[in-house]
Amino acid sequence: MLDIQKIRSDFPILSTTVCGKPLVYLDNGATAQKPNVVIDTINRLHTRQNANIHRGVHYLSEACTEEYENARRSVVTFINANSTREIVFTAGTTAAINLVASSFGDEFVQEGNEIIVTIMEHHSNFVPWQALCRRKNARLRVVDLTGDGDLDLEQFQEFIGEKTRLITVAQTSNVLGTVNPVSDIIKLAHSYNIPVLVDGAQSVVHSKIDMQALDCDFFTFSGHKFYGPTGIGVLYAKEKWLDVMPPYQYGGDMVATVTVEDTTFADLPLKFEAGTANYIGAIGLGAAIGYLEGLGMENIQQYEQELLQLAHKLADETAGMTVYGRTKRKAGILSFLLDGIHHYDTGMILDKMGIAVRTGHLCAEPLMTYMGVTGLVRASFGLYNTKEEVQALFDGIKKVQQMLG
Ligand code: PLP
Repeated sequence: MLDIQKIRSDFPILSTTVCGKPLVYLDNGATAQKPNVVIDTINRLHTRQNANIHRGVHYLSEACTEEYENARRSVVTFINANSTREIVFTAGTTAAINLVASSFGDEFVQEGNEIIVTIMEHHSNFVPWQALCRRKNARLRVVDLTGDGDLDLEQFQEFIGEKTRLITVAQTSNVLGTVNPVSDIIKLAHSYNIPVLVDGAQSVVHSKIDMQALDCDFFTFSGHKFYGPTGIGVLYAKEKWLDVMPPYQYGGDMVATVTVEDTTFADLPLKFEAGTANYIGAIGLGAAIGYLEGLGMENIQQYEQELLQLAHKLADETAGMTVYGRTKRKAGILSFLLDGIHHYDTGMILDKMGIAVRTGHLCAEPLMTYMGVTGLVRASFGLYNTKEEVQALFDGIKKVQQMLG
């Protein structure tokens, strides 16, 4: 089991105060805090080892290149991919999805084709597809919800057909916490030879992910939600797709040979990594992976489920509170509204108590409209949160209700 106090001491920011109160950080869905091992790695690189990668024969460049490629190997092992050829470093989930929407979209989506998304997607996994469909005169088909935050699986079955070119779906909703049955969706899609992109921004951090078992075609996640640095993320893609997709951006590092007349491209995955990579971010991400592996994703998942169950129990005991997303398979995310109180006001008053939560449309406006709300308050739990902090959230909620209810 996890030693939470020891874990907390690995994250220096957790001992700071906000508005004179100990920080209770419950905005992990937006970004997670960083352990010393990540901070120290970034510091070490900047102070002792910085040099551009893939292009120097000198010691520092070779050392950085080796660590960068080691970080890629760590990702392969962590998500059980087949090889480093399937791992493209990007600036984050958004950049990875845009890469696929642009490169795969330009090559394989034509007028009259269809892309299937869902109503619970983050804007990152919605807007690039909407824009692609506009560009190509294709149709965006949007799967709705049933009940309390589950996708309507029958609608996938209904929408899927000859015109479908791709299905794209979040493994875990950043709003509802729903863990979607992506395995079933992938099996269904593959029975029609349709590729699937899984947005793993909110799932990879809460549970063990296995590319070979999942068998998706594309998978994306961000370093900063994963206790790693900002500005780095991963696109996993099956080699068969990366082989036939054109480069997304052009420039240095992604070429094999360049003449005045023509250019040939570098081997995978570098074909998709134009320009100076965020090698310090990638190496920092490798450090975060090492940290999480040390704790064990199963242990993290189990612990976060305890926090979530406590949060649901306290929510059930709180009058005048509506929780959005009550499906059985959920990650550690609790989105809610308090009767008669604007979500911003709730967030601002909680902030005065040192409690950081997210408020607003949570980058999921189509879902907000669908649910008939303008925004929500979201508490999202990380591996270092404690049961006392969950209790502090509900003590805070009571105070908000006393003040404004
Ligand atoms: N997808 C989901 C489900 C998310 O929760 C987020 C961020 O909150 C993103 C995509 C976008 O991630 P990033 O901003 O790191 O690119």
